[in-house]
Amino acid sequence: MCAMGGARVITKKTSADFEKMLVAGKCVAAMHTATREAAAPGVTTRDLDNIAREVLADHDCTPSFLGYGSPDNPFPGVICASPNSAIVHGIPGDYTLKDGDIISIDAGAIYEGWHGDAAYTMAIGDVPDDVANLLKVTEEALWAGLAQAKHGNRLGDIGAAISAVAEPHGIGVVRDYVGHGIGRQMHEAPSVPNYGTAGKGLRLKKGMALAIEPMFNLGTQDSVVLDDDWTVVTADGKWSAHFEHTVLITDKGSIVSTLPEPVEV
Ligand code: MG
Repeated sequence: MCAMGGARVITKKTSADFEKMLVAGKCVAAMHTATREAAAPGVTTRDLDNIAREVLADHDCTPSFLGYGSPDNPFPGVICASPNSAIVHGIPGDYTLKDGDIISIDAGAIYEGWHGDAAYTMAIGDVPDDVANLLKVTEEALWAGLAQAKHGNRLGDIGAAISAVAEPHGIGVVRDYVGHGIGRQMHEAPSVPNYGTAGKGLRLKKGMALAIEPMFNLGTQDSVVLDDDWTVVTADGKWSAHFEHTVLITDKGSIVSTLPEPVEV
């Protein structure tokens, strides 16, 4: 899930905190694996949400997303499921996947108070080349951003690396929503934009944890929110992809926590 503003204080995590974030991250990875395996024509996004709920229970984790937001309109799912022109924050429900769709699944988990947050986008069956390329480029941009999440680098290094991957493809880089710090809260400072200037911005330090999440559109960067007050869609109706991982900047290097096995970047 991506940030819409909020806290300013950057919390420093200890190695013990990171251990818990690794457990939460492993659960998120399992939510990804299970939903990816189940996603097929005829499956509803509610079905995928139910599958993700079982994974959370199996991992002794609780959901980051369920109940998130204002008490008037709390998020009702444990995943966000955002098909086609939906960028992020789609509510799982009756939408039935069909051949030629793309679907973004964003998942969050809490283990002993510590969060993990990650998203992927996949094609259901065959999609046109430009859509397949959008998915490939967005995932590539995520890894370009993760590679900059290092002690001593600056926040602008992450955003610059991400937007540089989009540029030659004429892809719209969403600016209305951004990545975020993560820890005891799903959304902590700092905001992590998918654009920026290399060498500028906050200095990254050991003890930080970031959720990096490029959102790329086939058309313009502009977005609108649907009447459910959650689902963010592209303003021009063109399709959108979203990939995200949580990265921990530890004493022993930067570790992507939201994978079946943590990976150093
Ligand atoms: Mg997020």
